[in-house]
Amino acid sequence: MQSRICVLPGDGIGREVTEQAEKALGALQDRFGHSFDLEHGLIGGAAIDETGGPLPERTLQVCRGSDAVLMGAVGGPSWDGEPWEKRPEKGLLDIRKELGLFANLRPAVIFRELAGASLLRPDIVEGGIDLLVVRELTGGVYFGEPKGREEVDGSRAAYNTMRYSEEEIARIARVAFDSARKRGGRVCSVDKANVLVVSELWREVVREVAAEYPDVELSHMYVDNAAMQLVRDPSQFDVILTSNLFGDILSDEAASITGSIGLLPSASLSASGLGLFEPVHGSAPDIAGRDLANPLAAILSLAMLLRYSLGLEREALSVEGAVAAVLEQGYRPGDLAREGEAAVACSRMGDLVAAGIRESVSQ
Ligand code: NAD
Repeated sequence: MQSRICVLPGDGIGREVTEQAEKALGALQDRFGHSFDLEHGLIGGAAIDETGGPLPERTLQVCRGSDAVLMGAVGGPSWDGEPWEKRPEKGLLDIRKELGLFANLRPAVIFRELAGASLLRPDIVEGGIDLLVVRELTGGVYFGEPKGREEVDGSRAAYNTMRYSEEEIARIARVAFDSARKRGGRVCSVDKANVLVVSELWREVVREVAAEYPDVELSHMYVDNAAMQLVRDPSQFDVILTSNLFGDILSDEAASITGSIGLLPSASLSASGLGLFEPVHGSAPDIAGRDLANPLAAILSLAMLLRYSLGLEREALSVEGAVAAVLEQGYRPGDLAREGEAAVACSRMGDLVAAGIRESVSQ
């Protein structure tokens, strides 16, 4: 199989970690005989320095001509004082908008060997954490109209509108149901239908879409309860489907209970199937350029790319298996090494995962 992948390293550790993901791709080529065509593009501060803006037209063209996009991270102190048009973060928001990325997928997984890093009590983590938050990304209260400020009788007021059309709800629901089919077969739709009219419609449409997926089990939960259940017993969840606002909060909550930002991948998908895959972390200027970063979030983002954009499930599992094996063997990147443990450099972690992918050929 031949696939075209656009790589956008970005700034800071973005460059270091995407390089390690590329090593994993090389190993997959060797193992499975695929051909991955890689094209690199500029985004963020690197693009500003070279072209004057954070998202050059050429980058967008390369993205649109690719099957998937793998991104590192953007940002850094050199651009912090610049006007918004010359800020790396603008490139990030623009690319999401330009590519129509309406679905954000964030898995939260606890690797057995790293259970100690979790913020939760050991008896809670014992049940395991392996869930996926599917968040609607381009609608809801962040974008709804009308919004604004007003003054009534000398008193200030402000308002936003939480609005969803049935089409917006149905398309994100399908992403969640399709994802559940690739995982544990369960969707929990999170809303506030006891109070919000928009959530009543959300629930109604999610139920209608569920009828197309008789093999997937659907449940509903109010958002306040979901926030509590995530810390009481996260093992009960498989796929959490939710709106932009609730997803913003719940995906961060789910991520933080796993304990390490250097391990968290994410995917953003468009209606056309084109997806952008990136670690949740930023460009970490404090450790950039020193081979100290944990590249596993970028490598796990590559696994999501293989699964969601290229349909290569076996290959995705091979990458995830190699990451788990490296951790099982006791190797720890800087952010996961405990006191007294030797931290493994970013480039070496990449080599180890790539070797793990290659080695599993002979098994
Ligand atoms: P950050 O995620 O870059 O770093 C937070 C802390 O976590 C730092 O101490 C850093 O060293 C550590 N860290 C992050 N990723 C790590 C990794 N892979 N391995 C080891 N340690 C890691 O967040 P920040 O410091 O708030 O932001 C730094 C810059 O990144 C800012 O310019 C911000 O705008 C940008 N940012 C970009 C993205 C993105 O590109 N998606 C996301 C968040 C922040």
